[in-house]
Amino acid sequence: MNHHDIPEDFYSFETNTLFERCIECDKYLLDEGTEYIIEKAVKNYEGYPAKDTVFDYAICMDCAEQMRKQISKESMESMMRYFRDNMDVMTRLEMQEQSPEENLKSCMIKRIEISNCREYQIYAHCKGGKLNMENPPYMISGEVMEELLPLLSNQTIDEMNGFMNKHFSPDPSLMEPTPPRLILV
Ligand SMILES: [Zn+2]
Repeated sequence: MNHHDIPEDFYSFETNTLFERCIECDKYLLDEGTEYIIEKAVKNYEGYPAKDTVFDYAICMDCAEQMRKQISKESMESMMRYFRDNMDVMTRLEMQEQSPEENLKSCMIKRIEISNCREYQIYAHCKGGKLNMENPPYMISGEVMEELLPLLSNQTIDEMNGFMNKHFSPDPSLMEPTPPRLILV
């Protein structure tokens, strides 16, 4: 399998280059073989090329696993069911063969093109300075976020908000109308 470079879409907004450290434990991420996840939430402005990064971060696998454990069993099952019901396996397999850029062009679930998404989140599974294409990068539209939110327990939403508040203080105007949430899938 090809090992693609990490697209610039996943560069840190702050430094405009690759993320180097885990947001939780500060582990260095760019050693060969070190696996981590990058998540970024972006807001588009209709009719304008401008976009805002609402938040972005990289997290090492150990910390991601810790966070996953804090998501309630019910919420996790509901999310898994949602993805199972709404996404066909072929799509995910095809994504392994497509270029990362192609995968980021439209919502993995709704197929909405990125330019038509008011909000979206992108995810990448990385290994050192490269993408792990066994788990190819993807984009999820704000519409999917809105469908996922009601499936989550209050406990899970509290956990996610706790993480957000610990690490970010996003501009409140960016959080309208739907507060972006951390979804680790
Ligand atoms: Zn970590």
